[in-house]
Amino acid sequence: MRYYSTRNKHLTLSAGQAMIQGLAEDGGLFLPETLSVSLPDIDYAGVSYQELAEIILKPFLTDYTAEEIRKCAALAYDNKYSTAEIAPLRKIRDGWLLELWHGPTSAFKDLALTIMPHFLTAAYEHTGSTDTICILTATSGDTGKAALAGFADVPNTSVTVFFPENGVSPLQKRQMQTSIGSNVSVIAVRGNFDDCQRMVKECSSDPAVRCAGRHVTLSSANSINIGRLLPQIVYYYAAYASLVKHGEITAGQEVTFCVPTGNFGDILAGYMAGQTGLPVRHLVCASNANNVLTDFFRTGSYSVHRPFHMTMSPSMDILVSSNLERLLFLASGGNDVLVSGCMKELKKKGEYTISPDLLDTLQKTFIAYDAQEDDCRNEIAGLYGNEHVLIDPHTAAGMHAMHAYQQEYGTSVPCVVLSTASPFKFPGSVLSCLGMDAPENEFAALRMLSGMSGMPVPENIAALEHLPVRFKTVIDPDEGREYIVQILEELSHD
Ligand SMILES: *Cc1c(COP(=O)(O)O)cnc(C)c1O
Repeated sequence: MRYYSTRNKHLTLSAGQAMIQGLAEDGGLFLPETLSVSLPDIDYAGVSYQELAEIILKPFLTDYTAEEIRKCAALAYDNKYSTAEIAPLRKIRDGWLLELWHGPTSAFKDLALTIMPHFLTAAYEHTGSTDTICILTATSGDTGKAALAGFADVPNTSVTVFFPENGVSPLQKRQMQTSIGSNVSVIAVRGNFDDCQRMVKECSSDPAVRCAGRHVTLSSANSINIGRLLPQIVYYYAAYASLVKHGEITAGQEVTFCVPTGNFGDILAGYMAGQTGLPVRHLVCASNANNVLTDFFRTGSYSVHRPFHMTMSPSMDILVSSNLERLLFLASGGNDVLVSGCMKELKKKGEYTISPDLLDTLQKTFIAYDAQEDDCRNEIAGLYGNEHVLIDPHTAAGMHAMHAYQQEYGTSVPCVVLSTASPFKFPGSVLSCLGMDAPENEFAALRMLSGMSGMPVPENIAALEHLPVRFKTVIDPDEGREYIVQILEELSHD
């Protein structure tokens, strides 16, 4: 299986090389040359998460042996997760919640970032490289900590995370700034997530920057890295397997997934799952007040000319959703010329419009809704009030989208909402949605939320209270390039 850039199909790499490189030289994103892979018949009732990972990833990682893939899955999906199921499915009145927050940093990014370092290490061994892999990561909150945890002290790697100074929740910030590991650093940026992502993407495709480090290879742990997306396909299958296992559906029946969306990575993995044969009816794209994707899926026009809102679901406060580029490529039958055209327009004018035909194709699978802050508040309060189930503000946007979808399309197709973060990452917001007076202090808020709900605070979050803050640097977006060059020079070696 070869991988090529969404902007040029002629340059191809192996999976391992594509993961090491992160972003293609032309600024495009890597994709496998085909998603029509032949998977063996899956015994949904009996398969474990680790086995599913091996089955799904094998046709995409042809430069790895089956044994290597098995080993990576075993090292990733172990007791770092608080449940042996890894991604448990919880039944609620109107559908199901796929809980993707039982990993070491309590957000769904863990499902990819606990396995990706193992793939990179193996790829590194395959190539015999002696370069240091310098992983630059822009984060809207959760990727940062998951990358810092996943790569801490992984040999031959260095991780630098850039986050919007005032654009993440207090606990997300604390999680990152207290990270351990001799190869990690964390930088606050005076800007929003889009500024951080642009900085990282521009530097990664700038030859002058790439050359600044001797024997240093630039890479990324963002979902622009294909190594993030492939492992995310697995949990769509895992959700489906749980439904079959519990007799909720019969194998072959279609299911709809509702996905809280920011950079469009998570939902794109769902699309890829569908393309590999999983019976997906619709993918419901849930946005918060930053509804650029809702407008796009309704009109075919993508435009960043709109206000940027800071919401209680910061990981979805994004106007430039990078992975949409991959969807355009896949849905247009691999039209790299079309994709590079759209991306040029986006860069130059901040907008582009796709053809009615392509829009039609997308609308067969994607249905989009946005949730305002009040909508999320109502979902959180409603679910807790009626069923005593706590969800975080991102998951609430997904719940709102599910309810809007069910109103429009009926309830005959089973709906799974991807629950992307633990409510304990956002205790202040969740408490106030429940009508409580949230204490100023986040740790007091955690104790209150836990006491009220009877749910334990995840260990990794409780531990933050007593960890020292290690990283305090703040930069302006226009200082980013110089900063990154300096990192590369420091990592240089013979
Ligand atoms: C990252 C994140 C999202 C958005 O996922 P994308 O892959 O960027 O679309 C949603 N919810 C939470 C909690 C997240 O951390």
